[in-house]
Amino acid sequence: MITHIETIRQRPVWQEPARETRERFTRPLPNEPRDLGDVLDDVRRHIMPFATGNLHPLFMGWVHGAGTPIGMVAEIVAGGLNMNCGGRDHAGLAVEQQIVRWMSEALGYPDGASGLFLTGSSMANFVAVTIAKTEALGQSVRETGLRNSDRELVAYTSAEAHSCIAQAMQLSGIGSANLRTVAVDAAGRMLPDALSASIAEDRAKGFLPFLVVGTAGTVNTGAIDPLAEIAEIASREKLWFHVDGAIGALAVLSSSLRDLFKGMEKSASVALDFHKWGQVPYDAGFLLVRDGGAQKRTFAQPAAYLQRADRGLAAGETWPCDLGPDLSRGFRALKTWMTIETLGADNIGKSIAHTCMLARHLADRLSRHPAFVLKAPVALNIVCFGIRRGDAGFVRNLVSDLQVSGLAAPSWTTLDGEPVVRCAIVNHRTTTADIDGFMDILDTYLAERREKLQN
Ligand SMILES: *Cc1c(COP(=O)(O)O)cnc(C)c1O
Repeated sequence: MITHIETIRQRPVWQEPARETRERFTRPLPNEPRDLGDVLDDVRRHIMPFATGNLHPLFMGWVHGAGTPIGMVAEIVAGGLNMNCGGRDHAGLAVEQQIVRWMSEALGYPDGASGLFLTGSSMANFVAVTIAKTEALGQSVRETGLRNSDRELVAYTSAEAHSCIAQAMQLSGIGSANLRTVAVDAAGRMLPDALSASIAEDRAKGFLPFLVVGTAGTVNTGAIDPLAEIAEIASREKLWFHVDGAIGALAVLSSSLRDLFKGMEKSASVALDFHKWGQVPYDAGFLLVRDGGAQKRTFAQPAAYLQRADRGLAAGETWPCDLGPDLSRGFRALKTWMTIETLGADNIGKSIAHTCMLARHLADRLSRHPAFVLKAPVALNIVCFGIRRGDAGFVRNLVSDLQVSGLAAPSWTTLDGEPVVRCAIVNHRTTTADIDGFMDILDTYLAERREKLQN
């Protein structure tokens, strides 16, 4: 694996799994044992060449972290120790609590905040919506469900919010029809006046507004909602203010970016992903909750086998299983702790700022190129562009052709109903030379297309 990472530039960003490989994984359950060495040969032959590709500096699709060898070492240790971090009295819980304290400090939360590792921000946002619901209707909602509420709950987020917010509303039983999508400005940021107006309209109709979700770095363009203004509205209207910081929250580790997130410290909860900009290997989602009591009121169960003792393995007042839906859970905190300890928070912040600089460099080169046109302002690390005189099919073909070529892997998204090429630069390995190389790849692609059209 160390050689694999060292030589990552020499291989295609991505290649389609070979037919033989797909077939390799359709065999029946093996009854007989095999040598571990043989099994590892299969791993080398069938898995390593056909990975997602996000270790490569020109993987720019979606928002994928690149991982580090530190995280890889941590995974060996965590796997070896095989700790169950749902509860009990052991060091795993102390390490997780350390991350809670560090994130409280970095995000400007007070003592008494609680937090929890989850698979990703999809789960962290769902858990946050569930806490907000329980706080709005009282703990009895855990038993009765929504049927005892005399008014329907409604929540607010922007039209650019991630789809997992709507899914969280579905899973919580409130329903995504009760999620209002507030209009955004030309840069994709929630309009506070539209939020206020929507709340007033719902109150007049007899709904019960309970939650507003701001986004710190939207998935389409990296836009940051006006968090301070949303915080003020939430405080005035007594709504739970949750921030989806899956992409952006960790940017507070950068002194040059921190100010863009003013107001996040006033939120009631923040979801974030260490596996994106934090470069911790998948998966490492995280939720931080200002009022630790609220999180515990939502999830703690009185089961007999989870009872606590004042000493021994069953000691400890609050266990992670009191704070979320998981009981058995692995040691995600270790790879996060080892990454932060080894690199230091400043270096993580610098690497985040560096990817934003690369995004500005790419945007600058694209805007000076006759064939391309920028489709959204570059707020953080995401660049969206289109092709002059190119139709929708051209954009999608360009993205798929580049992915299939193995030279680079952007993705595409839809802005204002129009498909655009999207480059999210998340990888700590990506350099200015890589971005310049990407421009060369685009030039070659355009020249080849022109040639094809002429023949
Ligand atoms: C990635 C992302 C999510 C979902 O997080 P997962 O870790 O993939 O579950 C939610 N919101 C935003 C803004 C994201 O970028």
